[in-house]
Amino acid sequence: MKTFHTEPDCLFCKIAAGEIPSTKVYEDESVYAFRDINPQAPTHILVIPREHIVSAGALNAGNSVYAAKCLEAVAKIAEREGLSNGFRLISNCGPEAGQTVPHLHFHILAGRELGEKMV
Ligand code: AMP
Ligand code: ZN
Repeated sequence: MKTFHTEPDCLFCKIAAGEIPSTKVYEDESVYAFRDINPQAPTHILVIPREHIVSAGALNAGNSVYAAKCLEAVAKIAEREGLSNGFRLISNCGPEAGQTVPHLHFHILAGRELGEKMV
């Protein structure tokens, strides 16, 4: 079985390892997805790699496969959750973007009209 680089004090490493409870939506060898504890939309799912990567700003040729695996999982989750009307995918990166957990994660938001587009 593959071993991943994890950080002992990282909340999302602990969630992926099952050491802190979460509402699982999806998992595979390299990805774990669960419901956000403070949902901002009827569907609010966090998709994380099992590998500890601080943010999208820490991706490189050696670890970008885990971001790709997360995005493949996003597509599967969207299908399973029936998000055919659309969803928004967000990855906050660093303090000015409001990232509060320093482990790469993609927010899937759906289930209502998502206003206030920044881009
Ligand atoms: P961000 O602010 O982009 O870093 O996103 C972190 C997200 O993690 C927030 O939307 C939080 O609500 C969510 N969160 C924090 N702790 C937990 C937890 N124990 N279980 C599920 N979601 C969490
Ligand atoms: Zn981590």
